[in-house]
Amino acid sequence: MELPFAELYKTKMVETIRRSTREERERWLKDASYNVFNLRSSYVYIDLLTDSGTGAMSDRQWAEMMLGDESYAGASSYLKMKATIKDLFGFNDFLPTHQGRAAENVLFSVLVHEGDIVPGNSHFDTTKGHIEFRHAHTIDCTIDEAFDSTLYHPFKGNIDLDKLEKVFKENQVEKIPMVIITITNNTSGGQPVSMQNIREVSAMAHHYGSLVVIDSARFAENAYFIKLREEGYADKSIKEIVKEMFSYADAMTMSSKKDAIVNMGGFIGFGDRALYEKASVYNIMFEGFVTYGGMSGRDMNALCQGLYEATEFDYLQTRIKQVEYLADKLLRHGVPILQPTGGHAIFIDAKKFFPQIPKEEYIAQTLVVELYLEGGIRTVEVGTLLADRDPDTRENRYPRLELVRLAIPRRVYSNSHMDYIAATVCNVFDRRDEVKSGLVIKNEAPIMRHFTVELERL
Ligand SMILES: *Cc1c(COP(=O)(O)O)cnc(C)c1O
Repeated sequence: MELPFAELYKTKMVETIRRSTREERERWLKDASYNVFNLRSSYVYIDLLTDSGTGAMSDRQWAEMMLGDESYAGASSYLKMKATIKDLFGFNDFLPTHQGRAAENVLFSVLVHEGDIVPGNSHFDTTKGHIEFRHAHTIDCTIDEAFDSTLYHPFKGNIDLDKLEKVFKENQVEKIPMVIITITNNTSGGQPVSMQNIREVSAMAHHYGSLVVIDSARFAENAYFIKLREEGYADKSIKEIVKEMFSYADAMTMSSKKDAIVNMGGFIGFGDRALYEKASVYNIMFEGFVTYGGMSGRDMNALCQGLYEATEFDYLQTRIKQVEYLADKLLRHGVPILQPTGGHAIFIDAKKFFPQIPKEEYIAQTLVVELYLEGGIRTVEVGTLLADRDPDTRENRYPRLELVRLAIPRRVYSNSHMDYIAATVCNVFDRRDEVKSGLVIKNEAPIMRHFTVELERL
């Protein structure tokens, strides 16, 4: 018999989770105004809300915590982080921040001004939020293939070079401070960007005098896909691939809650000393002194160890195979999911799941509600709620894809949990015709409404 693939780690500490009854979940969700961000975590059996900050740290990361240096200035933990970032990404300078959006806030305070245009591949919601907050605009240049949910393309996160060139040709280049490449492309399904695309986008941006910033939250998963799918990379190590990816960028923003496998943290990496110096001023104002920037020494230590672990092939293989394991079960049952599956999550195509529900009734959020009621699993909407209103017209923006994301936390759940999740989704799929209508908004915030929106069932 061929030996099956199994996780390349074992468990040293456990945390109890509880099941609930359907009646309890009906009540809790109504009290939460049909927004799963309002649920207590104890009301959730399996939490797939996000893979952000929800990973399990390793024994070595916990050991690193004990060695943290909590000095205000010049801590050894800071120097360790500086050396790690230089080693893995090639950047000489960096600023620690408390998480990814803080990195965006600091960097964009230098780079983004009113009326600016920032092209990229499906900007992440906080990235878009920080740009639009400064009265600037984003332009999504993701390749069209990304919007066909069943079409196979190895790098659906790629930027379309023709679309990008059009942005440069139709606008004043001084208004385009940077191009943001998000790896992997979270919003369009955790899809990777190829090395060739990073190289070509970088060449074009630099040709027009723009900077290239990599939004790097899942950079290691992106490197794994390059190794498996892109010609010429099969024999390169993940660390070699990572080094090359970042050699094309001028700066990086990082949410360490993803591929650094820590619960909190972030940073900005800089190839340009002058940009680092300008950003330092904002870091001191918003985050903290340049050698800690919102992080404690022990957290910086764990982050460094996490970066080294996340760039090991065995870790990435274990992680991505688990996502594929769940995807296989859903596909065999006919559930419409985005293909190929990305690195950190499964995305269900809600328009195909519930074709009977009109887009005005928040199709993907309706599925989030049904999945919670069925099995106590918490997922998240990546659809009209997340797309928010147009800042000028205040009309709902209806994205081409209405998705429900099942984000898989790193090293947390077993494949029996995956079996349970698959059964929950398949049960809702089997009775999908019984769901006749969706939701209506009672209350919403003016920006990033999905976190706090209050809804009612129709
Ligand atoms: C999570 C994430 C961010 C924001 O990071 P936070 O740590 O949540 O503030 C930015 N970009 C991408 C692609 C992300 O996944």
